[in-house]
Amino acid sequence: MLPALNPNSALFLDIDGTLIDLAATPQSVEVPLALPAQLRQTQAKLNGALAILSGRKLADIDRLLGPGLPSAAEHGAILRDASGKLTQQVQRLASYDKWLKTLQAEIIDMPGVLIEEKEFSLVVHYRQAPKFEAELSQLVDHLIGGSEDAVLMLAHCAFELKPRGGNKADALAWFMQQPPFSGRIPVFIGDDITDEPAIEKAIELGGIGLHVARDFAGQTQAVRDWVIL
Ligand SMILES: [Mg+2]
Repeated sequence: MLPALNPNSALFLDIDGTLIDLAATPQSVEVPLALPAQLRQTQAKLNGALAILSGRKLADIDRLLGPGLPSAAEHGAILRDASGKLTQQVQRLASYDKWLKTLQAEIIDMPGVLIEEKEFSLVVHYRQAPKFEAELSQLVDHLIGGSEDAVLMLAHCAFELKPRGGNKADALAWFMQQPPFSGRIPVFIGDDITDEPAIEKAIELGGIGLHVARDFAGQTQAVRDWVIL
């Protein structure tokens, strides 16, 4: 049984699969009506120390949760602090446009495969068409092979071609060095393999790293209940 959220925490939250259920496509997720207000209530009780650490674009985070929450978007590629100031940690992929064209041409014959165009990265989603996983894996390996500035990130039914650098663990450490986060106990909740480094970082910094499957029985509702202060 988890102890209740400590009011001296600095709370860091992933969105998809953590605060809200995964859906067939990134655009078709449903946000419980009360969630944006609940997050702001908790944020106020933590003296502002609540931040979102998501793979999504900043504009997407604002669309889902309402504008302005401190955030690390696109896995930490861009950071928005508590005052709203933006810090860009990486450059957009040098081959972004070229790779987008290639991917668009290749997936014509793969119904159900989607390409998500983020500000810095490209994501190939195959949740609706898992039979193409091996073929897509070869394709993205081929694209990224030899590239100096890009890395491949594996997520739930998705391959992400992203700039090197900028990750959720570094983002968490970045927030913990500044107000209103510094001096508090970091608590991070995530659900994906891409979240494990941030879970470890929160523990390394004297806090708690939680995983939705391991600590909340896989229930986003349990996460939402736990983060209400
Ligand atoms: Mg997630």
